[in-house]
Amino acid sequence: MNIKANDLSKIYGNGENGVTALSHVNLSIVSGDFISIIGPSGSGKSTLLHLLSGLDRPTFGSVTYDGKEIYRYSEKELSAFRRRRIGFIFQQFHLLPVLTAMENIIMPLLLDRRQPDLNYLNQLAELLGIQERLYHLPHELSGGQQQRIAIARALIAKPDIIFADEPTGNLDSKSGKEVIELLQNVGKKMGKALVLITHDSRIAQMAERQLQIVDGVLSEVKR
Ligand code: ADP
Ligand code: MG
Repeated sequence: MNIKANDLSKIYGNGENGVTALSHVNLSIVSGDFISIIGPSGSGKSTLLHLLSGLDRPTFGSVTYDGKEIYRYSEKELSAFRRRRIGFIFQQFHLLPVLTAMENIIMPLLLDRRQPDLNYLNQLAELLGIQERLYHLPHELSGGQQQRIAIARALIAKPDIIFADEPTGNLDSKSGKEVIELLQNVGKKMGKALVLITHDSRIAQMAERQLQIVDGVLSEVKR
């Protein structure tokens, strides 16, 4: 897998009221990469993640997966592409409160009319230490446990890459660190690329490749 962003820019609004959220970003991501992107609030981190993952459309520039330009896809093709190739993890977990952990985990497959691979599900549950929690509702779980359920959900469709937008923002520093270590570990074992957005420099330093974004401009800090 090879993802390339070429001259990627996003301007919200237009004319005098236009806000340049992202400016001429170039980036290449390959299988197994563990990348952190750090930057202050409002610097364009979420915008970049949305554009790299087909959640929004750029004002200029392109994003290719294995040479294919994803923004040439129709909305329907783009959402199928996201369901199959990309895993997402958010600060707010976004678990459905009326579904058990297990039901939350397999939901992306059900939406795609696919059957879960139970061996793979068990393997994920074991790696993430959530075997005993699969039949609980989200409100019966701690924040760290909820985020581990969300990690399993992000991986269930066997995507190529996981994008995590401030996944530790709602956790205390100890469970935040645990979640990142688990994410890193499970990513390595399963051969997934991981792109982690954070404003916490201690979390950013856990990544192999560290990028920073300031006023929509991306640069490589450590490679
Ligand atoms: P971060 O995730 O680093 O906090 P964002 O990517 O969310 O930053 O935002 C970057 C800039 O773009 C900010 O100035 C923000 O206000 C602006 N922005 C983000 N989303 C929108 C939107 N949908 N409409 C208008 N402006 C937006
Ligand atoms: Mg953000």
